[in-house]
Amino acid sequence: MTRAEKIKETFRETKERRKTQIAKTYCLKLQNISKAKEEKLLRAFLEAKWLYNWAIKQENIFEIDGSKVRKVQVKVGESFEERELAVLGSQVRQEIVDRIKDNIKALARLKEKGKKVGRLKPKKRVSSIPFKQYGVSHRIDFERNRIHLQKLGSFRVLGLHQIPENAELSKAVLIRKPSGYYIHITCFVPKEERPTLEKPVAIDFGIKDKLTLSNGMKIDFEVPESKRLKRLQRELARKRKGSRNREKAKQKLAREYERIENRRKDAINKIIAFLKLYSMVVFQQDNISSWHKGWFSRAVQYSGIGKLRERLSSSPLPVLEIDRFEPTSRICSKCGAYFEELKLSDRTVFCPECGNKMDRDLNACLVMLRKVSPALRVVGLDRPELTPAEREASARMLGSNPYIRVSYLCEAGSSYF
Ligand SMILES: [Zn+2]
Repeated sequence: MTRAEKIKETFRETKERRKTQIAKTYCLKLQNISKAKEEKLLRAFLEAKWLYNWAIKQENIFEIDGSKVRKVQVKVGESFEERELAVLGSQVRQEIVDRIKDNIKALARLKEKGKKVGRLKPKKRVSSIPFKQYGVSHRIDFERNRIHLQKLGSFRVLGLHQIPENAELSKAVLIRKPSGYYIHITCFVPKEERPTLEKPVAIDFGIKDKLTLSNGMKIDFEVPESKRLKRLQRELARKRKGSRNREKAKQKLAREYERIENRRKDAINKIIAFLKLYSMVVFQQDNISSWHKGWFSRAVQYSGIGKLRERLSSSPLPVLEIDRFEPTSRICSKCGAYFEELKLSDRTVFCPECGNKMDRDLNACLVMLRKVSPALRVVGLDRPELTPAEREASARMLGSNPYIRVSYLCEAGSSYF
């Protein structure tokens, strides 16, 4: 076999193998970073910025091989100075330039479609550096708990225990955050049979981090701002502008924000993982995107609902989004009658036609489920049905998170038990 044939063969084999695998990303934290290594890391992010800002200005970018770029022109004040890329490995440089090429191509495609597009803008700060090829640009030593990064050296990492033994390691990204340096490494692991509850579920999104499920579950998730955050905000306000102490206080505050954000992300991940057990997730589209433009956009971002909805819409699990104009809360889930008199403040619906008395959000959920029932053969849904399997799964998957509260509506749907 020639070299070219060999590469082609390997490529084909990899493609076959990927069919039986799924990609997972694991987060590792760099630890015990010495002063010298930290300086190298800072320099790497600086060089990545220089390279990026230089490359987007090159007219002949598509002829440039990033791995061969060793020096770039950097704008200093009104003039340009030459800087050496000393700590960015060849693979890293190549990937940074290739990503720019991809972005330019994507912009061109949008332009063809008649969208208004701008040019890539110079960056003030770069916070991620790509490492493309496992074994070349980066390598993990599981025995010694270390990762080796091309040209940057070896670092102790925390979190390797998450990676299963049969994982095939792939590309990685070095990320800097207020709390330190992280590696997000992509691994391919064998696909598992997805355990499923073999039934669909409908969700009503309330305001303020509250979900109602068609099985009568209510999930509340709220990650409050910590006392520490409020204290740090007060401390920052007292520090003199431009002082070193103010910088320090700012960093502490950024780290606390990151901590709270992580708790919120974790709560959302747990809820998504639970919903993945269902064969389908039904929910109503919402005009949250239009809220974002409004004056209380901050409140919406602070609630996790927007994020959760976004994750659901883009996740690979089967979802069905019902049109936002469907009056799901105004229809009786039992007989289909229309509630003329329902006010926004009514938390319970009462149907004069059939006598159905039910929690308002649960009723909306059941209306949504009914919409898909012909295809899904949902029958006899005149009350929420919660199986022991669902109860067990929710306790196991949601119970361990202190920011998630689960309660259940009783069969009649009007009170809790
Ligand atoms: Zn009715």
